[in-house]
Amino acid sequence: MITHLEERPSQPVRGIPADVAWYAYSCSQCGYCIDECDQFYGRGWESQSPRGRWYWLRRYMEGREEWDQFMVDTFLVCTTCEMCNLRCSAALPIEPSWMKLRGQLINEEKKMTFPPFEMMAAALQAQGDIWAGYRKDRAAWFPQDFLPRHGPEHKARNIYFAGCTASYVEKDIAMASACLLDAAGVDFTYLGTKENCCGTPMLVAGKWDLFTEIMKRNIQAVKEAGADTVISSCPACDMMWRQVYPTSHLGPEARHRVWDHRQTLYRGRLREDSRGRFPISGQRQSPHEGHLA
Ligand code: SF4
Ligand code: SF4
Repeated sequence: MITHLEERPSQPVRGIPADVAWYAYSCSQCGYCIDECDQFYGRGWESQSPRGRWYWLRRYMEGREEWDQFMVDTFLVCTTCEMCNLRCSAALPIEPSWMKLRGQLINEEKKMTFPPFEMMAAALQAQGDIWAGYRKDRAAWFPQDFLPRHGPEHKARNIYFAGCTASYVEKDIAMASACLLDAAGVDFTYLGTKENCCGTPMLVAGKWDLFTEIMKRNIQAVKEAGADTVISSCPACDMMWRQVYPTSHLGPEARHRVWDHRQTLYRGRLREDSRGRFPISGQRQSPHEGHLA
């Protein structure tokens, strides 16, 4: 296939950001990205693959297609797995390009997302979580006997950030993580009902105003708790605290030390025994020792 790329555009093409427009015409349509794509795998239609989306964007920029809700959704349902970035023979930044388009379509042009994102946004605005649980119930999973040494009144430099799913749905994850951290002798506290969703769903939905508001609330809550290290058992929360918050406009204020709970346990005093089991009555460290070096 011969593609006449001409010069790299310096301005958006029919509203498509200049760099994304360039990548659309840089795609050789080789197809290496297709089989690895979650979105294609789930649907089986060419239009749902990275190659198909680049092709559609070209047709749109040439005036042969128009946006409708189906095509907006097509760019929204990408799972952000990023496998396409690894597979692309032209090393195109595919997933970041879809993220850029989401920001443009949803945040700037105020197009609709699909119903689950709208429901999550409404729940998040009202109660601070994506599962439509009440804020007052957010800390219901927290073991009562942990309140004196790990509850919101306890001051510590480490915070266990449970996230929405472990707080409302998969509560065993939050409970097990807190129990393991406690058994490892890690001195930590918990935000309780001041914790909010980390914001991942709003970031990937293109609802960036709401994402920014939620991010600020979480950072403020950690600041008020006097902590500087966030421990998470959720990969999405971890990614927000580790990679996304620090690159926001909030700058140094948004930078915290971040550990996932497995790193934390390893660095704590909890070690697997020779049979691969964790002891549940480890010797507790002093609060100073319990802070991760
Ligand atoms: S990031 Fe999106 S487009 Fe890329 S492989 Fe994953 S689902 Fe497909
Ligand atoms: S692997 Fe890259 S160049 Fe090939 S079709 Fe997919 S996006 Fe285009």
